[in-house]
Amino acid sequence: MSAPDKKIPVGILGATGMVGQQYVTLLANHPWFEITAVAASFRSSGIPYSKAIENRWCLDTPPPATLKDLVVQDATHITEIASRCKIVFSAIELEKEELKKLEENYAHAGMHVVSNASAHRWTHDVPMIIPEINASHLQIIPEQQKNRGWKGSITVKPNCSIQSYLAPLYALIRAGYPISKIFVTTLQALSGAGYPGVASLDMIDNVIPYINGEEEKTEKEPLKILGTIQDGKFVLHTGLEISAHCNRVAVRDGHLACVSIGFQEKIPSIEETINIWQQFRSVPQELNLPSAPFMPIIYSKEENRPQPRKDRMYERGMGITVGRVRACTLLDLKFVGLSHNTLRGAAGGGVLNAELMIAKHYAI
Ligand code: NAP
Repeated sequence: MSAPDKKIPVGILGATGMVGQQYVTLLANHPWFEITAVAASFRSSGIPYSKAIENRWCLDTPPPATLKDLVVQDATHITEIASRCKIVFSAIELEKEELKKLEENYAHAGMHVVSNASAHRWTHDVPMIIPEINASHLQIIPEQQKNRGWKGSITVKPNCSIQSYLAPLYALIRAGYPISKIFVTTLQALSGAGYPGVASLDMIDNVIPYINGEEEKTEKEPLKILGTIQDGKFVLHTGLEISAHCNRVAVRDGHLACVSIGFQEKIPSIEETINIWQQFRSVPQELNLPSAPFMPIIYSKEENRPQPRKDRMYERGMGITVGRVRACTLLDLKFVGLSHNTLRGAAGGGVLNAELMIAKHYAI
């Protein structure tokens, strides 16, 4: 895939938040994109970005110096933002119906909206993309534009909790081992709750066995991602049951998932499972997209890995680390998966989606 002739102007909605900060960092030196707008709530608008994130910058690397003086816009000032950019990355924390409408208004104004939020995940003509799994779902976009009379579009990425294991499961399905049951327990990092997130006195010395709405998302979203498009509509994947427990743990970044799986018929051996994961490559790797991990899934042989602190930055935070694959006494196989929730699970995944849209000529 050759790079676009010139850099594409992009905006970040929710640029002051936890995910927005990752977007700003990933896009500041991106080979295809140039940040021309940063937006947030009215509370942060009208002041330089450096001022808006003062005392709330969460990353270890400093904010990009090039954005220091860029004035934060109010995300509801769509005409102004649309005059500056072609793609907007949506990382806003807002009530569902309000955010739905806001993202639709951007698409109506001709913007391609790549969203991290859940607002549009179940909208019938909006694709929910993990590029290694269902890049082909982008083909719904012309239908979406026709239905709505939009020149722009909306594409979403799924919940961060499923990113730690869905690609490894898809790799097994693609290799001819359909799965009928998934039992998963997630251990989800604090950054997944945004900033300032969960109160420290609730988290220190503790695990919270509840994250609002997370288990429902974990159980349902894979069915759309693994599904097909028929007659311009998404048809959910069938024959797969998922049961999830989602927990908030006192880890800064990186969602860990302990997964048991039952296969429909044939069961791969442990050696074959590891081999399938290590050989797995898909559309982002074939297209050589700038944010694509070279090896999307890595198997860690060490018996006590993956661990969030040690493994979350594998492939610049875009890879998935799996380990501890072994026989399951209730289902067939079990393993542990890990991904970085604000990179692969949020901003990095969003940037990869946008690169895919450009490479496949669905945007610009
Ligand atoms: P966050 O740290 O709380 O940041 C929220 C952002 O939304 C801030 O920039 C905030 O701006 C902005 N905002 C709030 N109300 C607004 C309004 N009325 N109009 C415009 N902007 C508004 O949250 P986050 O963790 O970054 O999450 C952002 C989105 O990504 C959420 O939809 C979340 O579900 C999703 N997500 C998060 C993760 C993760 O790991 N954290 C993973 C996947 C998806 P101000 O600073 O001006 O208030």
